[in-house]
Amino acid sequence: MDFDFPEDIVNARKKAQEFARKEINSEMAKKYDRLEKFPEELRKKAFEYGIIDYQNPWSMLVTIEELCRADAGLGISATVSLFGAEVIMLFGSDEQKQKYLSMVQNGDKIMGLAVTEPGGGSDVAGITTRAVEKDGKYIVNGAKMFITNGTIADFFVMLIRTEEVEGKRHHGLSAFIVDSDLPGFTKNKLSGKLGVRATNTAELILDNVPVPKENLIGEPGKGFYYIMTFFNISRAYVAAQAIGIAQGALDRILEHLNRLTKEGKTALAEEVQFLASDIATRIEASRLLAYKAASYLFQFRPNPTLTSMAKAYASETATFAAEKALEITGYSGITGDLERFFRDSKIMEIWEGTSEIEKLIIARNLLKEYAEVNQ
Ligand SMILES: Cc1cc2nc3c(=O)[nH]c(=O)nc-3n(C[C@H](O)[C@H](O)[C@H](O)COP(=O)(O)OP(=O)(O)OC[C@H]3O[C@@H](n4cnc5c(N)ncnc54)[C@H](O)[C@@H]3O)c2cc1C
Repeated sequence: MDFDFPEDIVNARKKAQEFARKEINSEMAKKYDRLEKFPEELRKKAFEYGIIDYQNPWSMLVTIEELCRADAGLGISATVSLFGAEVIMLFGSDEQKQKYLSMVQNGDKIMGLAVTEPGGGSDVAGITTRAVEKDGKYIVNGAKMFITNGTIADFFVMLIRTEEVEGKRHHGLSAFIVDSDLPGFTKNKLSGKLGVRATNTAELILDNVPVPKENLIGEPGKGFYYIMTFFNISRAYVAAQAIGIAQGALDRILEHLNRLTKEGKTALAEEVQFLASDIATRIEASRLLAYKAASYLFQFRPNPTLTSMAKAYASETATFAAEKALEITGYSGITGDLERFFRDSKIMEIWEGTSEIEKLIIARNLLKEYAEVNQ
């Protein structure tokens, strides 16, 4: 057992740190958060700098962590333009990979993944957006909600109902690639969200959108399974986002502690030391979980229990760290970076499966294992 990363991943982390130091600062983060503006230039620079390479998932994991450590809104915007690509990588045809993946891998185009609907996100099997076959196309009607990259993506991987299967709600769902410039496709930007405000979020309306038949991904009716496989991957990346936020909060606590010590405020410094130790321990535990889950995943042996544990625990560590950091730093925290870290951290507990959903998955898998052993 070796807990050290190989040299290329250590270097990927250093390069991401270098990029964050050069290109992300508090003023910029504050500005993009306030204006709720997507940082397109930063996204492009991240590609030019050579830190975005989804063919190398370990390097992406540490890059996401380091950019979110600087700022989650900017860090996620810079790394999320291939959101959903794994569905095409794993289940798409050679033609789909050639046409669509090549556009996003070099940063030229942006994609998104549209699953959640206005009726709810946790109950994926409850999707009501429908596709009906007509004249060699699928005609799509419905709506998607809270979609990242919603108004800027060139295409989406979208989960759509193609059939009603009585008693089996998760059957009859299919995954499609839907180009965002098709007739009948409307995007409405959502403003005023709690956190990660530099990321672009939108509602998508589909009114008789004609999707070419060749844009069906894999087999019809298998979409639910493809998306669950994807969530297993993306939840490891969300764990990395959350670890980045927690580490960013800890960095600011240590800065504060250093100041208190220099000023001779011993009693207060002691309290901050306990807090820093507690948060550092939780971050280390989150990393171990996330890296173990990722290790299984990247060897094509996904372990959904571990992935859900990593996502839920790292997200809760981020909210704990950001909240405590905000409290302990007082006025400077409330008016500085930490108020943003606090808002951003909460999003980690919501997207890609809320903490409740992760815990349901963990408990269900534990019970399954228990039943297998005790039959
Ligand atoms: C900033 C942002 C970006 C997003 N980007 C995307 C995106 O790109 N693509 C996409 O498809 N979605 C996206 N989402 C949607 C996100 O995945 C959903 O918000 C999330 O899955 C929860 O769905 P919901 O908000 O509809 O809440 P609901 O599913 O309505 O849940 C509400 C509450 O009920 C709880 N709950 C629900 N079901 C159960 C249950 N069975 N047992 C116990 N508790 C339960 C939940 O934990 C939650 O606390 C994004 C969300 C946000 C906030």
